[in-house]
Amino acid sequence: MPATYHSYIDGQWVNTPETFEVRNPATGETVGSVDLCGTDHIGQAVAAAKRAYPEWVALGPAGRSELLLRWSEILKERAAEFAELETAQTGKPIIMTETFDIPFSIDNLRFFGAAARIVPGMATVEYVPGHQSSIRREPLGVVGLISPWNYPMNMAVWKLGPALAAGNTAVIKPASLTPLTTIEMARAAHEAGIPAGVLNVVTGPGSSVGEALVKHPDVRMISLTGDTLTGKKIMAQAASTVKKLHLELGGKAPFVVFADADLEAAVQGAAMGGFINSGQDCTAATRVYVEESIYHEFLARLAQRVRRIRVGLPTDRDTEMGSLISWEHRDRVEGFVKRAVEAGAKVAAGGRRPDDPRLAEGAYYMPTVVYEAAQDSEIVMEEIFGPVLVVLPFRDEAHALELANDTIYGLAASVWTRDVFKANRMSAGIQAGTVWVNDHITIVSEMPHGGFKQSGFGKDMSVYALEDYTQIKHVMADVTGRVYKDWHYMK
Ligand code: NDP
Repeated sequence: MPATYHSYIDGQWVNTPETFEVRNPATGETVGSVDLCGTDHIGQAVAAAKRAYPEWVALGPAGRSELLLRWSEILKERAAEFAELETAQTGKPIIMTETFDIPFSIDNLRFFGAAARIVPGMATVEYVPGHQSSIRREPLGVVGLISPWNYPMNMAVWKLGPALAAGNTAVIKPASLTPLTTIEMARAAHEAGIPAGVLNVVTGPGSSVGEALVKHPDVRMISLTGDTLTGKKIMAQAASTVKKLHLELGGKAPFVVFADADLEAAVQGAAMGGFINSGQDCTAATRVYVEESIYHEFLARLAQRVRRIRVGLPTDRDTEMGSLISWEHRDRVEGFVKRAVEAGAKVAAGGRRPDDPRLAEGAYYMPTVVYEAAQDSEIVMEEIFGPVLVVLPFRDEAHALELANDTIYGLAASVWTRDVFKANRMSAGIQAGTVWVNDHITIVSEMPHGGFKQSGFGKDMSVYALEDYTQIKHVMADVTGRVYKDWHYMK
């Protein structure tokens, strides 16, 4: 019997007349039935967040920090349960949710719980004689948070952590494919004593629930992680109320391998960086550019390595790659490969669904390596967001840089070389928010993540995220008590 999950508004569980189902994409089974909110619920959630705001601000950094840390402790106690639920709603391997999704989400929350107490900034100074200038860093008020399906709990924490630590109150709308761990996070927040209205969860489609949140006049900021097209729509919708935006959008990361690189490490890095989370990662290695002299050897070794990736049921402990998020998404990914092959590209590994009959009901696609595709073709230019890597050759450093930057995206990239000078030149030249050297994907709570170009703007994690969820105010105070100031020419 699938469980029932409710949205959470003003510290209460809502029970809407209509619901929608969340299915396990690896098996087709129903995992839960979830409240389908209407626009009236968005109004209620925003009103609750607005009421809760003064109390949350008044708690101060230490008070908010204590509650966020208590919340993280409850999540830690329930980590195994969260890992199972995340795996059930996403189809990702249990070894991944246990070792990455859940512990990293908890670590992010602990970081923001601690960072809430440190607010760096400019010193108070008399820039104008007789006037004291100081900076206040203030929360914005009610913020609307819209999260995607690829790392549901992690993305919720990337938004709730800095938003609440900075003193905002929040209404979060998780992706309809994966709302369950966000709802369970609200249960843990309630238990931790986070006051009613500080954190609200509304569930339902982006086109209605999400849009209502974006357009609401009392919502001061929208933070979205999602598709670049969704980001563009939200920018247009947010214009009428001039909202602050924080957009983490698509990516098409280049993975540049020079002939002097450690080939074994680069092959392993491409397999991990390209197929983690079934490639449904905005920073996934998708365009592998390899120096001509080692191109054929690299391609052969990568294809061999990729064929060893164990695709299976997410609950099996030896599964390394699970299903994709949905059957519709699997068909979309498959379409990219089919069209590339029709246009003359070749497949070195994968390019099909798995043979294993146990996986027949799931949204599976084998890890795939494509080569001999044109640089300007769809498979190289567009975000596939699935287990598909394209390998292409380059002539020299200048050519590698040109190809790496030949994209509308700019989220992440990696450079593989033993030459420290080349590594530094490439890191400076690549237009992306993160550049790894001899690694790909690794992230930490203390360092920022976010895009250049059409990958969006605003940073997640780190103190930069905290800053993004605040606004700065200049307070200028006369310190002389004089009626006539030096600059007064009307005397
Ligand atoms: P979508 O953009 O379709 O959805 C993201 C969220 O936005 C969902 O909660 C969705 O709701 C909501 N949404 C959709 N349309 C609207 C709208 N018009 N107004 C308000 N909200 C809306 O992306 P996916 O969920 O499909 O996630 C995958 C995408 O996210 C990929 O393209 C990937 O690159 C990107 N991504 C970027 C990351 C980054 O850090 N830059 C990280 C992770 C993913 P619902 O689904 O319920 O309809």
